[in-house]
Amino acid sequence: SEAFAGKRYAVLGLARSGLATVETLVASGARVVAWDSREEARALVEGKAELGDPMEIDLSGFDGIVVSPGVPLNRHPIAMRAKIAGVPIIGDIELFALARPTLPPHKVVGITGTNGKSTTTALIHHIIEQAGFPTVMGGNIGLPILSQPPLEPNLHGVGVYVLELSSYQIDLTRSLDCDVAVLLNITPDHLDRYDGFEGYVASKARLFAMQSTEHVAVIAVEDSASRIIASDTAAPLKAVHSRDIDPVAQLTWPALQGPHNAQNAAVAIAVATALDIDPDTIDNALASYASLPHRMQAVGTHNGVLYVNDSKATNAASTAPALAAWPAKDGKPRIHWILGGVAKSDNLDECVPHFGNVAHAYTIGEAGHMFADLLRPHMAVDDSEMLSAAVRRAARIAQPGDVVLLSPACASFDQFRDFEARGDAFAAAVAALGSTGD
Ligand code: ADP
Repeated sequence: SEAFAGKRYAVLGLARSGLATVETLVASGARVVAWDSREEARALVEGKAELGDPMEIDLSGFDGIVVSPGVPLNRHPIAMRAKIAGVPIIGDIELFALARPTLPPHKVVGITGTNGKSTTTALIHHIIEQAGFPTVMGGNIGLPILSQPPLEPNLHGVGVYVLELSSYQIDLTRSLDCDVAVLLNITPDHLDRYDGFEGYVASKARLFAMQSTEHVAVIAVEDSASRIIASDTAAPLKAVHSRDIDPVAQLTWPALQGPHNAQNAAVAIAVATALDIDPDTIDNALASYASLPHRMQAVGTHNGVLYVNDSKATNAASTAPALAAWPAKDGKPRIHWILGGVAKSDNLDECVPHFGNVAHAYTIGEAGHMFADLLRPHMAVDDSEMLSAAVRRAARIAQPGDVVLLSPACASFDQFRDFEARGDAFAAAVAALGSTGD
């Protein structure tokens, strides 16, 4: 399409979404100046775009500076420079929003929240797919939306773009009018990028401020910040409560166990209903949904013990629901909890109410000693240091019916490339148990 004919953009940051951005802009008629501090990254756009550092070039006449959400705008000098030049700083989601008039008729569902975004995005996408609509996921979930082929309407109706949006991506977006805008929850996280909690909440609120009044806002009104945003949406509000989920029905959704998934499911049902998908289709889709890797993912059973990879849980608020998912049975706690890595906080406050479900903890990584000391008054603890050692130790101690849960409440980069590598290492350690037969 010619969505950007005659426009001029600077693109800063040439990782996956930056590259997709350059390609789309050039293909749709824009003139692009691209930059990355890494020479290897710059080499990838050679022949496609001009090279130039937006900190150095004359920015007058540019329609926007496109940055990756990884750029910390509260600290990076580009923010001031752009402001002086009067050029907006935007992200690829904004470019998608600007290109919408040139796309076939379609709808957009935008999902944000502190925790549960990827799960809920994938779940909503799955329900829409089961209903027969053309649909694609994009945004923070890892698929650059600009490189997705346009969705053509089919017999069932128009296509639906399902976008997972981090607050950084919302900060870089000005004109995304979601047909359904979704907020799961807000708890303190990523505060280094904002002026306190209010700044973080304000960022999420903008997703709803951008909506027009004929659209729908779906908000889980289960924390105070979410309730504040819900009290002031532009579009009509559908307030969602996890308690609306029937626990017996939830038992028939294998990949959606635990109280946090009741919230994710309740939100997904509200969105699907807003899109006029019928209840039977929704029910069947909840049952057939398969969990994303590294999120409460069962990776194996060994001697009657279930092994669950929840490596994606990088803070205490994300780990808490995992600990709640297996309550003590006949007064006996069943969870063997592997945690640690790079701590985001020196406490595990959100997890404290579920300590009674933990039979034994195994700490790893940089925060291992600190968390071992913190947990010892409450439960049996091994400071295992390494993930593979923790898995072997837990396998020796756990009884049939127990669960060995990797839900680290920490970032991974002291010992692993990323949370995926950590989850893969866990699965490999579990597989190795099988082969030694112990
Ligand atoms: P995100 O994409 O927002 O990081 P994910 O869906 O990948 O969220 O889930 C990350 C972790 O957060 C999961 O492993 C789970 O422990 C926890 N989690 C998932 N959904 C929720 C929720 N609704 N509320 C709180 N924690 C959740």
